Amino acid sequence: MPPPRKKQPASARRTVRKKNEWSEADEKSYQDFLNNSGIKELAMRLRVLEAQGEALGMAPGHRDLLKCPKCGLFENALFNGQLITTRSIDSEEDTGLRFDKLTDGTYLCPGCGARVVEPEYIPPPDLFGPVKRRKRS
Ligand SMILES: [Zn+2]
Repeated sequence: MPPPRKKQPASARRTVRKKNEWSEADEKSYQDFLNNSGIKELAMRLRVLEAQGEALGMAPGHRDLLKCPKCGLFENALFNGQLITTRSIDSEEDTGLRFDKLTDGTYLCPGCGARVVEPEYIPPPDLFGPVKRRKRS
């Protein structure tokens, strides 16, 4: 038999925070985690690896794939992560052409010279969605 639950002292009840409130203690804990966990160094190493992967022809991990609205040339990523450009969704044949970055978010189509704006990132839908409770009958 479990021991009886003790009632929380009044002093503890007064310190109960509102849900989702970010306290100074939370911030201190978060900063402590950032500074001592090694996660900043890990993120920097991941950026270097991502840049090396792109230099080797891998699909970019920091932006969506591009498609030219004028001529239809688009980037695609093969199963192994290799970046290609093609004109047909059914083809894995690489044209060998690559979009040139002009400014942040704007690229030059190598097929026709049109300016291509990077598509807005749309996060994937939440697979599980909000928890729905069923009414018991
Ligand atoms: Zn084009």
